[in-house]
Amino acid sequence: MITNTYLKRVYEDVCRRDGHEPEFLQAVQEVFESLELVVDQHPEWEKAGLLERFVEPERVVEFRVPWVDDSGTVRVNRGYRVQYNSAIGPYKGGLRFHPSVNLSVIKFLGFEQTLKNSLTTLPMGGGKGGSDFDPKGKSDGEVMRFCQSFMTELYRHIGQFTDTPAGDIGVGGREVAYLYGQYKRIVDRFEAGVLTGKGLTFGGSLARTQATGYGLCYYAAEALKNQKNESFEGKTVVISGSGNVAQYAAEKCYQLGGKVVAMSDSQGYVYDPSGIDLKVLFDIKQRRRARISVYADEVPSAQYQEGCRNIWNVKCHIALPCASQNEMDEEGAKALVANGAIGVFEGANMPLTPEAIAVVQQNGLLYSPGKASNAGGVATSGLEMTQNSMRLSWSFEEVDERLHSIMKNIYAACYDASVQSGRPGDLMVGANIAGFLKVAEAMMAQGIV
Ligand code: NDP
Repeated sequence: MITNTYLKRVYEDVCRRDGHEPEFLQAVQEVFESLELVVDQHPEWEKAGLLERFVEPERVVEFRVPWVDDSGTVRVNRGYRVQYNSAIGPYKGGLRFHPSVNLSVIKFLGFEQTLKNSLTTLPMGGGKGGSDFDPKGKSDGEVMRFCQSFMTELYRHIGQFTDTPAGDIGVGGREVAYLYGQYKRIVDRFEAGVLTGKGLTFGGSLARTQATGYGLCYYAAEALKNQKNESFEGKTVVISGSGNVAQYAAEKCYQLGGKVVAMSDSQGYVYDPSGIDLKVLFDIKQRRRARISVYADEVPSAQYQEGCRNIWNVKCHIALPCASQNEMDEEGAKALVANGAIGVFEGANMPLTPEAIAVVQQNGLLYSPGKASNAGGVATSGLEMTQNSMRLSWSFEEVDERLHSIMKNIYAACYDASVQSGRPGDLMVGANIAGFLKVAEAMMAQGIV
């Protein structure tokens, strides 16, 4: 509940203007509830219209993306880029290709990204983009033609000093490569820092592919150690999703001594009590681009269940939601509590509904919001840009070490902010406040822009 009069007034304005954007409202509400704890100490924010400006993206671009499918039929999708906030650096944030993409989803992601990028301590503002295009079931040629058409409009809005996109759901190495190829062709410059998540032969960074999943586990390990005197060792882990974030979260879980017993995709989940075999899973998802049900066809110890939501009924100590927004509701959270889980760490952006967060927190589980625990991806994108500017490549170990230390620092910043704001151990409040204060300070310093 928002009670502070300034926060309340701004939130009601957002509801009036953007009431048709539920995901955006949800993200704003969560952050405003945390800011209750600090807004009274900053009367200057209201005079400067700081929050009114913060809830309005600096720029929204929406465009037509026409392309021709393999049968010769003309198809038209809608493209977006929301340049959310550039107070602390050029806009930075991924592109999502998924049928569920609309302006509300991209705005919520840009809003979250602004606070996340602030937490990384790197100089990056927040942005996000994408399209309602579905790469699933499309040929490589179709995906290439779509990416080329998308970039033919997007290129005029981005640049290494203005806005630097990366991947997200539906945008992996293949898509980033096609997007970069078209950008380079149009501008006739090898401006590597304009996109991150690139292939290793053209300016990509080692460990970027692994970064979000690995970073999630580094963050979770810090929280478990500091707040529960626990670790991944001997723990059972359930991970939703089986895409980029989920795959490398699973790999790191095993490296830290945990056992991953269930993973999902949007159709269903597999339960394998002897531990998901990542060799098989990676082959299904990375090489064959097939459904997760295939895993159960090929691994005798596994069972497949239709419907991904019930994955939270699988008994575990640690839950890592790594698929999409609002994928865990109150029921899912209650099932985790009933099964004795000790922590939920978000790999996806906003995967828990507000009701699920309340259940998890009220029952004493550790909970971390995605803007903190999944920040390793964008942090390593920042490291990719640094390497591009320096025209050199760091080793896997060097990047991984920097990622590890960034995630430890993000955890410490969230924990310290939770203590300073009188809610020790509440990592959601800590992440929202720590992320916001830096952006607020930069916005205040730069005047009314
Ligand atoms: P991928 O496209 O690689 O994988 C997404 C996975 O989630 C797939 O298994 C997909 O299943 C599943 N999924 C997608 N939508 C839904 C849905 N509505 N319900 C259930 N399952 C769903 O994406 P990423 O792994 O890159 O991203 C996953 C999450 O992590 C997103 O929230 C993203 O914003 C966030 N994130 C990603 C970062 C990155 O570096 N990639 C960085 C920080 C956050 P299916 O194949 O059936 O669609």
